[in-house]
Amino acid sequence: MAEKVKELLNEGRITGFVGLRKQHNQPAPHLFTKENMADLENLVVGDVRYPLNKVLLKLAHRFPKDRLGVMVRGCDERGLNELFKWNQLSRDHVTPVGIACPAALAEACECYKPYPSEWVVGEKTEGISHSKRLEKNETLTQEKRLQYWLGQFNKCIKCYGCRDACPMCFCKVCSIQDRNFILTGKLPPENPTFHLSRAVHMIGRCIDCGLCEEACPSDIPVRTLYKEVGKIVENLFDYRTGEDTKAKSPLNLLGEPTMDISDVNK
Ligand code: SF4
Ligand code: SF4
Ligand code: SF4
Repeated sequence: MAEKVKELLNEGRITGFVGLRKQHNQPAPHLFTKENMADLENLVVGDVRYPLNKVLLKLAHRFPKDRLGVMVRGCDERGLNELFKWNQLSRDHVTPVGIACPAALAEACECYKPYPSEWVVGEKTEGISHSKRLEKNETLTQEKRLQYWLGQFNKCIKCYGCRDACPMCFCKVCSIQDRNFILTGKLPPENPTFHLSRAVHMIGRCIDCGLCEEACPSDIPVRTLYKEVGKIVENLFDYRTGEDTKAKSPLNLLGEPTMDISDVNK
């Protein structure tokens, strides 16, 4: 991957590359440029995951005329597809460089497409077509399922880690932080309003990367919740979030985007 990034920078096809760099023995997000090309020696391309598209969004809004590269896995590519369609990023200004995930990660994620459309690192492994998480959830009666989730939500310490780690949370005003909507000074946050509000907001946006669940200090299985939301969207609207580069998600058609990259470009 370092060679590919070097090539893109040297040929002037990108002005920067958003990836991970080993710093103090830890992977951290980094913008690789022609000026700091030596840093590519410490480029991290293993199984470590990070919401790089979130970093890319911030940089793209700050430098809208630049073309930036970004390291993508299958889920990140799904995320880019949605971010383009939600007018958060311009397709012409982003160059993805792919990495295919190993089978163990695909299984842990229950990922139906653990690779992007092109990749320079890793090998294609089969996707996982069924979710044991959802199967387990669906064996419970509705009443038991409600009790299970209310119990899980009661563990929430309202740290917003799930939202902050989510590459698809891009609203300028966050309704789960709106004091007119969610009571302040209360733990756990209003149950289930806090969690179900976010789940509704993820309709047609969640690309099932699982970073929210990894970030949660209370071990709440939020990924399962969003997988369930994704399945409902797929069943009702025949829409698989992030899969299609053109068709818009059901909720994308309902209102104005919260922020439009073309406004930044003006
Ligand atoms: S969801 Fe997991 S397995 Fe699928 S692309 Fe993302 S990191 Fe890889
Ligand atoms: S899995 Fe979680 S972090 Fe990833 S897109 Fe969905 S809600 Fe956001
Ligand atoms: S990361 Fe976990 S504890 Fe923090 S707000 Fe989200 S669900 Fe609650």
